[in-house]
Amino acid sequence: MPQTLSFQVSPEIGYQSPLLHQHLAQLLQIDPQHFEHRVLRRSIDARSKQIKVNIQAAVYQQEPMPPHRLTQTWHYPDVSHQPQAIIVGAGPAGLFAALRLIELGIKPIVLERGKDVRQRRRDLAALNKEEVVNPESNYCFGEGGAGTYSDGKLYTRSKKRGDIQRILEIFVHHGAVEDILVEAHPHIGTNKLPVIVQNLRQSILEAGGEVHFETKVVDFILKNNTMQGVRTADGREWLGKGVILATGHSARDIFELLHQQQIYIEAKPFALGLRIEHPQQIIDQIQYHCPTRSPYLPAASYGLVSQVSWKNTSKGVFSFCMCPGGFIVPSATAPGEVVVNGMSPSRRNSYFANSGVVVSVDEPDWQNFKQFGALAALRFQQAVEQKACLLAGQNQHAPAQRMVDFVQKKVSTTLVKTSYQPGLTAVAMDEVLPDFIAQCLRQGLQDFGKKMKGYLTNEAQLVGVESRTSSPVRIPRLVDTYEHPQIKYFFPCGEGAGFAGGIMSAAMDGEKCAEALAKQTTTNLLKA
Ligand SMILES: Cc1cc2nc3c(=O)[nH]c(=O)nc-3n(C[C@H](O)[C@H](O)[C@H](O)COP(=O)(O)OP(=O)(O)OC[C@H]3O[C@@H](n4cnc5c(N)ncnc54)[C@H](O)[C@@H]3O)c2cc1C
Repeated sequence: MPQTLSFQVSPEIGYQSPLLHQHLAQLLQIDPQHFEHRVLRRSIDARSKQIKVNIQAAVYQQEPMPPHRLTQTWHYPDVSHQPQAIIVGAGPAGLFAALRLIELGIKPIVLERGKDVRQRRRDLAALNKEEVVNPESNYCFGEGGAGTYSDGKLYTRSKKRGDIQRILEIFVHHGAVEDILVEAHPHIGTNKLPVIVQNLRQSILEAGGEVHFETKVVDFILKNNTMQGVRTADGREWLGKGVILATGHSARDIFELLHQQQIYIEAKPFALGLRIEHPQQIIDQIQYHCPTRSPYLPAASYGLVSQVSWKNTSKGVFSFCMCPGGFIVPSATAPGEVVVNGMSPSRRNSYFANSGVVVSVDEPDWQNFKQFGALAALRFQQAVEQKACLLAGQNQHAPAQRMVDFVQKKVSTTLVKTSYQPGLTAVAMDEVLPDFIAQCLRQGLQDFGKKMKGYLTNEAQLVGVESRTSSPVRIPRLVDTYEHPQIKYFFPCGEGAGFAGGIMSAAMDGEKCAEALAKQTTTNLLKA
């Protein structure tokens, strides 16, 4: 058995394997030649001026160190002649559902409206440079879903939802660096994700599954309240032993289709606000308590939360999806709306740090849209996005205001430099945002400024709008079978259905839906 040790070291030692090996040799009083070591866990403790790195390491003296960290290997059996099931959407939920179905002996047919990662990249270039939104291929739609051109942060608060280690290991099996199994806040980076997503697809295809791009589902095939399959825009019908609907939070046409067909869905609370961009150096200085970040430390991040009051109620204001060393990207899925989100490359080395700062949106907030029933929260969200587009005045230009100017209700006469490629227009955010959001953000940002001295600065700027934080609609499902309460063999899945928020939780939910579908199918086959 290896010896496991937990200790603290300087960043210089913590992030350099040879130095760490020397440190362990001194700690254990053994010759460095006579053992091997592997870091099991690494996190940064930046609470005091002297930054420390917490390390948990395994030391192998008596036995050789295993060649890698994976606890198991993955074999995807040939399912080409097995019963098939339909998965709509090739985001993390859909792809992990497909792989799990294969493990369980079912052939997945994945239908994706967008393009494969390579072709998708061209549409993203056009979006950034020419401000043209392709409604079928953008930062949300296409192979890998919203997760592909993202930061690739792989941490989740939803630890109860599934086996996090298993999902991380599947990512490693498909080409992610083993470090994601070690770091307390693992991330892959937008430059590395496309290859991993392609590898996930390759595993599905090699096992006999199918993945069809530019294949948009436009209708469900139902018989006696049982899901038989789906119809795609080209008129084809796809039948299977169940449908996993993993279309994400931006598939408004799918929510509309369900609503029209009177398949029960409900408006769901979500959060809306802005993205805030600082020079990364400011965040580093605050978090690492020094003028310049040590070369051994990663770009610093933050997570902030505040409870503010609005009309005798309490509202949550919180930072969301922080991207150190990253970029703000245009994430709209239709022309005439402006939506921003963030991503970062694996090295997180851009000049900027950005993060969503959002306010919780609950049922009383979308009262003016209640005539839209289950789509009320979605229409509220859409109205803000359209207003952002209108006020910024030019395709994908985004409205922006310097942070202190916003807090002091002053229109910014100049803006600071940004990572947002399409360009910014100086706008008073009070005109873009519903009153309660602007007021709550104003209070929240002041509170954040007290918690992180130097955070509230006119060197930072607010860019709007961060509106696709999670789905504004829930597609309900039964707790035991994961099926929709009205429709047999219909499995609402992932973020779009309201059961995930992020890559990891979406992937775990995909696996759960696949397991539920396999269980139902087997029961059905046994009965037949
Ligand atoms: C720019 C950006 C950065 C992000 N960064 C992070 C991050 O760092 N970490 C993190 O955890 N999360 C991040 N997220 C969020 C994360 O990507 C999502 O939570 C996650 O992808 C949700 O997975 P999903 O599979 O449920 O849905 P999605 O990823 O949204 O996938 C849904 C898929 O369904 C397809 N689809 C929709 N309608 C149809 C239809 N009618 N027919 C066929 N296909 C259809 C879409 O094209 C899409 O590919 C980011 C999101 C964005 C946009």
